[in-house]
Amino acid sequence: MAKQNRPHALMLPYPAQGHVTPMMQLSTILSARGYYITFVNTEYIHDRMLRSGSTKSMADFRFETIPDDLPPEHGRIQQIDELCKSLADNCPAHLEKVVDKLKGKSDVPPLTSIVYDGCMSWAQKTAIKLGVPGISFWTPSACGFYIYLSAPLLMEKGYIPLKDNSCVTNGYMEEVISCIPGIPVLRMKDVPSFFYDATNYMFQFLVTQSQAAMSADFVLLNTFDELEGPVMEALRERLPVYGIGPLLEAEQKNGLPNSFVSLWTEEKSCMEWLDDREPGSVVYVCFGSITVMSDQELVEFAWGLEGSKQPFLWVIRPDLIRGASAKLPTQFVEKVKGRSFFASWAPQMEVLSHPSVGGFLTHSGWNSTLESMGAGVPMICWPFFAEQQINRTYVSQIWKIGIAMNDVVERREVEEMVKRLMIGKEGEEMKKRICELRDASIRAANKGGSSYNNLEKILMEMEGKNR
Ligand code: UDP
Repeated sequence: MAKQNRPHALMLPYPAQGHVTPMMQLSTILSARGYYITFVNTEYIHDRMLRSGSTKSMADFRFETIPDDLPPEHGRIQQIDELCKSLADNCPAHLEKVVDKLKGKSDVPPLTSIVYDGCMSWAQKTAIKLGVPGISFWTPSACGFYIYLSAPLLMEKGYIPLKDNSCVTNGYMEEVISCIPGIPVLRMKDVPSFFYDATNYMFQFLVTQSQAAMSADFVLLNTFDELEGPVMEALRERLPVYGIGPLLEAEQKNGLPNSFVSLWTEEKSCMEWLDDREPGSVVYVCFGSITVMSDQELVEFAWGLEGSKQPFLWVIRPDLIRGASAKLPTQFVEKVKGRSFFASWAPQMEVLSHPSVGGFLTHSGWNSTLESMGAGVPMICWPFFAEQQINRTYVSQIWKIGIAMNDVVERREVEEMVKRLMIGKEGEEMKKRICELRDASIRAANKGGSSYNNLEKILMEMEGKNR
C-alpha cells in the first residue's frame, strides 16, 4: 500500500514498562495490517528504551517524544501520583503539538485514529477535534478494569472509603461484595488499596480515567472472551468493549517478531544457568517493574525459598527495597549457592518459556499473568497494588492456576507454597489447567478466534468511520 494511503494510528502509552509493552504489541499487530504507526513516548521512557538496547522492533514505527515535565531525578513510577498529575496537567497540550507537527509533514499519511492508554483519557478530546476514532486501551485484566469502573457504585453502597482503620483488623476486608455483576468473588481485600481513602489522588485519578472510557469510540482490553466471559458481558452492557488479547499470542501466532522493549538491560546469562537445571525444577521469582517491599519482606522470601529446597531464579531490581538497597543475609546466600541465580532484570518471557522453569512467584501484574499463562507455568501470587489483588483471586479461585499468598510475608508460608506448587498432585493439576488456558488463548488469538475477530471488527468499523 502506498504510504500516503495507509491508515495512520497514533499510539499513546502510559509511561511504564507494563503499559508500553502491550501498546508496542498492539502497534506491531496494526503495523502488520498495513497501519502507519506513530508511537508517542515520554522523553524519559524513550531514552530508557534506547539505553537498554531494545531497539530491534522499533525500526518500522515513527517515534515522537513529549516531556513528562518532571525533573530528571524524579522517581516517576515510585511517586506515581505525581507522575499521573503531571501527565494529566501537561500531556494534552504536548499531544496537540505532536498532532500539529504530523499534520505539517508531507511524507506522513493523515492520522486516522488515536489509540491511547486508558489512563491517558484526555487524548479522546484530541481525537474528537481531529474527527478520528479515539480508542481507549486498558492494559489491566477485564476484572481489574471493571472494579475501577465500579468505584462510584462501591461508594454509593458504602463499601468505600473505609470508615476507619479498624476495618483492616476487624474482618471487614474479607467481606464479600456482591453488587458488581460478573465478579462473584470480590472481597474488600481485592479492591485496590487506594480506593480505601477517597482523598487519595490515585483513587480520584483512576475514577476519572475509567469513567472517561464511556466516551471512547472503542475500549480495548488485553484479555479474551473465553477467559473473562462474565465480566466482558457485564462490561458490554455499558461500553463498546472488546477483548483483543492476549496480544502476546496474537503477535506470536501471526508470525510477527517479538516486539518486547525493555526499560532495563536484561541479564541474559540466567538462560545458561537455566540450561543446566532439571526440567520443571526452577521457581522464577519476580515482582515486575514497580513493586517495592520492605527489608523484612525480602528476608522472609529469602528464607522461604531456602527452606523449599527448590532451585530458584530471583529478579531483584536495584530499587526493589523501599528507600534502600536490597541486602540478602550472608548466611542465606551461602546456603543457596549452587541452586540460585540472582538477576537485576531478566528476559522474562524467555525465562518463563524455558523447560527448567516449573513455577512463578509473581506480583500478579497483568502482563506477567498472561506471560505465565502463555508459557503454561502456574503461579504463587503476592500482589502489590492496583488490580493485582483481584488478579490473585481470579488466578487462585476462578482459573485455579495458582496459589494465593497472604499479604503478610512469612517464610514458612513461602516454603510451603513453593512445595505445593512444585511438588505433587496440586501443582500438576494447576499445570494441566494453565496449559488448557494457554491453548484457549492461542485459539482466541489465532485467525477465526474471538480476539482476532474482535480486532477485525474494530478495524472494519474504523475504516467505515474514516470514510
Ligand atoms: N519484566 C521483564 N523482566 C523482569 C521483570 C519484568 O521483562 O526482570 C517484564 C515482564 O515480562 C512484563 C513487565 O515487565 O512484561 C511487567 O509488567 P506487569 O504488568 O507484569 O507488571 P508491572 O511491572 O506493570 O507491575
